[in-house]
Parts: sequence; C-alpha cells; structure tokens
Amino acid sequence: MRVIVQKYGGTSVADVECMLKVRERVLKALDKGFKVVVVLSAMSGETDRLINLANKWSKRPDPSEMDVIVSTGEQTSVALFSMLLKDCGVKARSFLGFQIPIQTDRSFGKARILDIEHEYIFDILKNYDVLAVAGFQGCDCERRITTLGRGGSDTSAVALAAALDAEMCEIYTDVDGVYTTDPKICSQARKIKKIAYDEMLEMASMGAKVLQIRSVEFAKKYNVPVHVRSTFTNDPGTLVVQEDKSMEAAMVSGVAYDKDQARITLVDVEDIPGSAAAIFEPISRANIVVDMIVQNPSRESGRTDMTFTVPKGSSEDTLNILKKIKDKIGAREILSDTNVAKVSVIGVGMRNHSGVAAIAFSALKKENINIMIISTSEIKISCLIEEKYTELAVRTLHEAFGLGEMQDVSSEDKAQCRNE
Ligand code: ADP
Ligand code: ASP
Ligand code: MG
Repeated sequence: MRVIVQKYGGTSVADVECMLKVRERVLKALDKGFKVVVVLSAMSGETDRLINLANKWSKRPDPSEMDVIVSTGEQTSVALFSMLLKDCGVKARSFLGFQIPIQTDRSFGKARILDIEHEYIFDILKNYDVLAVAGFQGCDCERRITTLGRGGSDTSAVALAAALDAEMCEIYTDVDGVYTTDPKICSQARKIKKIAYDEMLEMASMGAKVLQIRSVEFAKKYNVPVHVRSTFTNDPGTLVVQEDKSMEAAMVSGVAYDKDQARITLVDVEDIPGSAAAIFEPISRANIVVDMIVQNPSRESGRTDMTFTVPKGSSEDTLNILKKIKDKIGAREILSDTNVAKVSVIGVGMRNHSGVAAIAFSALKKENINIMIISTSEIKISCLIEEKYTELAVRTLHEAFGLGEMQDVSSEDKAQCRNE
C-alpha cells in the first residue's frame, strides 16, 4: 500500500473554492495510486475566533475545556472536506484525533504525541482511499481531548507520516516553500530548494512559523521527507531532508525572527551556588519555556543580574513566581520588558566558516540597532533587540549574508519533489 500524507493549512481550507482546489490535489494523488491521508487545519481565523470566545466566558479558561473548544475548528474542516470527496464518488471519511487515537501526554494546549494506532489506520485504509484527519488534536490516557499548540497540524501530519511510513509528507500552505526569511517582511527573500532537518529545526525554533517545531523534530527522528509547498501553484517547494555536503557551502541559510519574547531581569541576585536553580526550578515546574539566559556577575560585589526571556504570554506568570522567591535569592528588583524581539541567523555552514557573528553584529551596528542579549549554538546566532527594529534587522541581516542571491539545485533533488 503506497501512502502519502498531505497537510493543508488554514488558508488552504478557508472556503469552498479553496477546498475544491485541495480536492483536485487529492484526486491527482489518488490517480497516481496513493492512499491519501489528508490532515486539515481549521479554516483560517477559526482557531483565533474560538480562543476569543472562550476568553469572553472566563478570565482564565480551564485548559482542558479550552482544548475541547479549539479542536472543533479542525472537526468542521474534515467533515466538510469529506463531504466534497464523497460528492465525487471517492471512498473517504473523516477522523478526529481521539477516534484513531492519536495518544498524547496531558499538557493541554501544548500536548506532545506519544503514540498513534497505525495498525487501525491501515485496517481502515483497506476500505477507504482517503482519510481526512483533524490536525492539531489528540487525546490523553483518560480520553480527554488535547491540542498540540498553535500550528500543531504540521506535527499531526509528520507524526502520521512517520507512523504509516508514508513515502512523503507534503505540507501545503500559502507560501510555495521555506524562504531564506519570512517573504511577508523581506521582498528579497528567496525560496530554499533543500534544507537540512537541523537548519529547519533552528528556523522553526527561532520563529519561522512555516513549520511547527515539533513537526521538524518528528521528521528528523523518523527520517520523514517533508515537502513544503503551495496549495495554489504547482511549483516545487522546499524539501526538508537529511543534511548533505552541499548544504555546508553556504555560510548562512536563513534569518528568522520571533516577536513572542519578553525579557525579565532579576537585579542584584546573590552570586552563590543554587541561585540559578532557585530561579529556574519553579519556572520550569510551571511549564514555562525559558529561552535566552544571561548572567554576568560583578567581581567586586558578589552579586549578579540574571536576565532571561520567556514567551510574552508567560511573562505575567513568571513575574508572579519570581515575586514569591525574590527575597530568598536576595534580588533587589524585578524588571520586565515585552517590547523585545529575537532575530537569528541560521546555517549548518557556520560550523566551517568563521566570522559569522562579526558580520551579523556589524550589520546591526550599521543600522544603529542595540543588541540586548546574544545566544549562540553550533548553527545559529540569536540577538535580542527592541521589537520596533525587527523588520529592519531581518532585512539588514538578510542582505549582509547575501541571502537574496541564487542557489543551485541538483536534478536528483528535483526528482524527489515528485507528486506534482
Ligand atoms: P498554514 O496556515 O498553512 O499552516 P502558517 O501561517 O502557519 O500557514 O505558515 C505560513 C507562513 O509562515 C507564511 O505565510 C509566512 O508568512 C510565514 N513564514 C515565516 N517565516 C517563513 C519562512 N522562512 N519561509 C516561508 N514562510 C515563512
Ligand atoms: N488551527 C490551529 C492553529 O491555528 C492548528 C493549525 O492550524 O496548525 O494554530
Ligand atoms: Mg501553520
């Protein structure tokens, strides 16, 4: 049985005209002899509408009930799409996460997939040619509905492709591939023909929302080839695959930005063993993700400022936690700033090229953009800056690394973009 997984995002299923385009694509895949597992998002704007609705009812909506509400967007999409398929005689049916089930942990709103009952899906595929699976959702061990975090349908799709050993996982969206940076804010952005899992992982983690981070983790772990492409054109998109030698030739492959950052500083914390643990343990227990961390102790005073970033939505909870431990760690003051953003340059080529940081810092200096925090990994350099300079910083860095210039692609890679 040849299986292909195709995921369509919110703008691709926004109305009946869009869904008819999706149907055409699915019919083409059927013609090629595939069984098609179609993962759908909610119609564009629907998830936001449902979140706002819940927020009108309750100041702090119960997370498990929130998941019951927000998962209904995808439920509507798969039912409508299955109707369209059945109208033209295709053997199709809809599936919700709990019906398969897609088993997750119990972190409502940001659940992680633990297991997918793939044998059951193969059984169903004996009688159906297309399964329309609701993205973004699963269920926990008590059969309570969970959701996978914003953009989670990407993860549903890649996880299904891994579980079913699909030939390809195609992610259809409103751009025709992964670009060197967000094409919405940089007109010089260029489509990347092929990107390594690790680079894509950094791009996604650093804010390029074209793929959800967890989906790339799955793709890498299970070696699922992912093809990111447009629902609305037939151009080949971007292949996300294992790293190869050709990828190291470029110094940098992309620039990403993340405005969902808040900077928190604890002023004059005692510089003694255990201070950092006292700060970050309760934050971690509250399931808050800390990103950049800087500590720079003064040699004379025996005290240090501890600065770090968290998602904007977690800044209030973080401040409440810190207020409780402020005296214990001897902090003089707690400062917070939500007008910050992180810009990052990413590329596996960094391992073999020196001077990448210097080029990035000089480019930001040329535009008089101050860097508040720097963090690096083997294949990325991130700088925290004032939020109002985000777009300028992205364009400047993109230009400094010559990312708008052409890149070549081998005929072998072209052949891999098969299901056109
Ligand atoms: P979908 O609803 O199909 O899941 P998303 O809105 O989640 O689509 O992701 C696609 C969007 O990601 C694009 O419209 C684009 O603005 C944004 N984006 C950010 N960075 C990049 C990038 N490097 N390459 C392509 N798109 C990017
Ligand atoms: N509908 C969800 C969201 O808007 C999941 C997704 O589209 O991937 O985040
Ligand atoms: Mg998305």
